[in-house]
Amino acid sequence: MAYVVPHEPIPALPVTGTSDLFPVNRIFCVGRNYADHAREMGHDPDREPPFFFLKPGQALLPQGRDFPYPSASHDVHYEFELVAAIGKGGADIGVEDALNHIYGYAAGLDMTRRDLQLQAQKMSRPWDAGKGFDLSAPCSAVTPAAKIGHPKKGAIYLERNGKRVQGSDLAALIWKVPEIIAQLSKLFTLVPGDLVFTGTPAGVGPVQRGDLLHGVIEGVAELTLRVV
Ligand code: MN
Repeated sequence: MAYVVPHEPIPALPVTGTSDLFPVNRIFCVGRNYADHAREMGHDPDREPPFFFLKPGQALLPQGRDFPYPSASHDVHYEFELVAAIGKGGADIGVEDALNHIYGYAAGLDMTRRDLQLQAQKMSRPWDAGKGFDLSAPCSAVTPAAKIGHPKKGAIYLERNGKRVQGSDLAALIWKVPEIIAQLSKLFTLVPGDLVFTGTPAGVGPVQRGDLLHGVIEGVAELTLRVV
């Protein structure tokens, strides 16, 4: 038996320090997981639990490639985030077991057509056009947890054209990685290759063609990207 139309290649990320690839399935994202970002978006982090949305795996933009400014938007924002890469699947994963399901970590950008997202939010419509557009998920290589462990603290910051625009510490995540995995796996059966973007600190803002974005998660990964 053969496929009746051509099928797309499997999206993948390099594994730091090897010639191996991490195959990417779905891309889950956590909303409002740093209190300062929740506040800048007009929400109360103490009252509203974080929630999840998805980007298709085909939205992945592996490190080393430029980010093309997308169509249909005049307000495209960066959101720099710690990414957990799922190595072992499962449903209803316990908090205490959650880290055993993570292969490694990466640095990602949850690129957002903010104008379309806010418009959808106002009209109680889905976020897909605002969040899940083509190449909306730039991501660094994956660093295996076997090498660096599971980061609980450490600086996370993003520079736009050499100027720091976002900065926080992983310790400031409202929901920690094990809690995110546990909660997410109650809603979806996780499979190897799923990525989880864990939310962004305050300081989100627009990009323009020509911008150079450089993000660092200390001890984990770095990501550099040109907007074209
Ligand atoms: Mn985000």
